[in-house]
Amino acid sequence: MPIFAAPTRDLQFVLHDLLKVSAQDIPGYAELDADFTSAVLEEAGKVASEVLAPLNTVGDTEGCHLENGVVRTPTGFKAAFDQVREGGWTGLDCDPDYGGQGMPYTLGTAVGEIFVSANMAFNMYQGLTHGAYSAIHAHASDELKAIYLPKMVTCEWTGTMNLTEPQAGSDLAAIRTRAQPAGDHYRLFGQKIFITYGDHDFTANTIHMVLARIDGAPPGVKGISLFIVPKVLVNADGSLGLRNDLQCISIEHKLGIHGSPTCVMAYGQKDGAVGYLVGEANRGLEYMFVMMNAARLSVGLEGYSVAERAYQQAAEWARTRVQGKPPGAALAGPAPIAHHPDVKRMLLTMKSQIEAMRALALYAAYQLDLGARHGDEAVRRAAQARGDLLIPVVKGCSTEVGIELTSLGIQVHGGMGFIEETGAAQPYRDVRITTIYEGTTAIQSNDFVGRKIARDQGAAVTALIADVRRELSDLGTDHAGVREACELTLAAVDGLRDAAGHIPPAFAQGPERALAISVPLLRLTGIVLGAWLLTRSAAIAAQRLARGDADRDFLQGKIASARFYVHHVLPQAAALLHTVRHGAASVLETEVVAL
Ligand SMILES: Cc1cc2nc3c(=O)[nH]c(=O)nc-3n(C[C@H](O)[C@H](O)[C@H](O)COP(=O)(O)OP(=O)(O)OC[C@H]3O[C@@H](n4cnc5c(N)ncnc54)[C@H](O)[C@@H]3O)c2cc1C
Repeated sequence: MPIFAAPTRDLQFVLHDLLKVSAQDIPGYAELDADFTSAVLEEAGKVASEVLAPLNTVGDTEGCHLENGVVRTPTGFKAAFDQVREGGWTGLDCDPDYGGQGMPYTLGTAVGEIFVSANMAFNMYQGLTHGAYSAIHAHASDELKAIYLPKMVTCEWTGTMNLTEPQAGSDLAAIRTRAQPAGDHYRLFGQKIFITYGDHDFTANTIHMVLARIDGAPPGVKGISLFIVPKVLVNADGSLGLRNDLQCISIEHKLGIHGSPTCVMAYGQKDGAVGYLVGEANRGLEYMFVMMNAARLSVGLEGYSVAERAYQQAAEWARTRVQGKPPGAALAGPAPIAHHPDVKRMLLTMKSQIEAMRALALYAAYQLDLGARHGDEAVRRAAQARGDLLIPVVKGCSTEVGIELTSLGIQVHGGMGFIEETGAAQPYRDVRITTIYEGTTAIQSNDFVGRKIARDQGAAVTALIADVRRELSDLGTDHAGVREACELTLAAVDGLRDAAGHIPPAFAQGPERALAISVPLLRLTGIVLGAWLLTRSAAIAAQRLARGDADRDFLQGKIASARFYVHHVLPQAAALLHTVRHGAASVLETEVVAL
């Protein structure tokens, strides 16, 4: 069975050396000292490696089954769910008014990585419940909040997100599910597809967040409303009542995440599913964006978390598989493949990019915490804008990188990587969905260039680039390797500034000019920001080493990651910059379907 050990030292390094969380003047952050976060992460790591990781292969091989209208999850999943729930892990960063622990989102994100690495398919109920919680918390009436939130915070009831219909995937304007007014509630009729954990055997109730059109609503996105539709209706005293008119009518057979049920949901096969309007009518998509933002960051986290698992498996394989005598190595005779230069290159490609994406995701989560909690309104507003800017970058880049790195994980294993029993193929299959759901990479990139750059005339991205530049210029390090990384990164940051500067005028000439190069710009942004965070990490590591810190191997690893990244990953930024500057015309002038 593939091993998994939570990367708690790496997470602690990002939280305390890079973000310096406990030194920040943000409500809730003072508690996050190194001892406290270490205890939380170690405990999460124990649950992950002892309970969740062993079920990863079980979920993959057994999958889910629909039996007599009820979804059965793989053997052991329900017991693991109970253990995670009873451990209080589900409400870590939720509002204490509804039973949550009120911890910062940054800590929730660090814990989330550990659980996802151990078993992505299992953990998906948590990401969706958290998203549903966020939408209800932000927009529902106090009455609805009081009924649903306490049970969702503890995961006594889980949540889902029902957007997709057969004709409405990326284009949610095409949604047809109908909502008929019926007094203080609505009756819903329609079909939703691909609904993650739409049904399961974990809990007595599931709270579906459903997008639908109220009869007579305007066409397009301006006529979509958001509803709470419980699987089982809730009585006035909070007890469970009648079964609602909704059902999982089939589950999908998929490439990966077999342990997560992907359901076709039928609403209103009889007299209509009872639903409660969230907020105002016709503002559903806007509300759903709250949920999608949280969910997009969680999916970005899936990209590097699954890659971390694949990296651990590949590194272990490379340490034990003996093959040939590596040229130049001081070993007599055949040696483990980890000594071959190209295997080292593959492992460093994995390690450095996982570290870059982890740092970027936690930095984005930290901005969202600042945006929600800081005492100064101007700081709050700027941080929220930066967090919003970074969400599509984390989601789009980390998931694309996740696919590349899990593929490399197979390559390190050679032929045995292609054979299921080694477990190297599962991360590759599991992570493949992450560039598709919660908005494909193209949808993230369109959001990035349209809403996040063109709409404010590049203000948020320019402010970020200026801060990054200033920090790198002030880095002041004596370490030659770190200085070189810093210079190469600074040059790439200037390229990013140039590339981002193209977007507002291109958009003004015609959005298609920006959309034709939006994915290359997103990748360029992720690569350059990754270099910034790794270079900062390397500078911190060099300082600690100069002070005689005993954690030498770990800290030298941080410098090695940055040095490798600036020579093997960062050079891609120059090619992407060329594409951003010159690549739009070749797309727009060509009608591929006519070729
Ligand atoms: C396993 C799984 C779980 C899922 N879970 C959920 C869930 O819990 N809830 C839920 O509501 N949905 C869920 N989904 C649905 C998922 O969010 C959609 O599949 C996704 O949004 C893409 O929509 P689509 O499949 O219709 O693809 P399409 O929209 O048909 O896209 C096909 C291709 O066209 C491109 N494209 C489409 N429009 C544009 C555009 N405007 N600009 C540029 N390119 C474009 C896309 O990038 C993609 O490459 C899930 C899907 C899967 C497979």
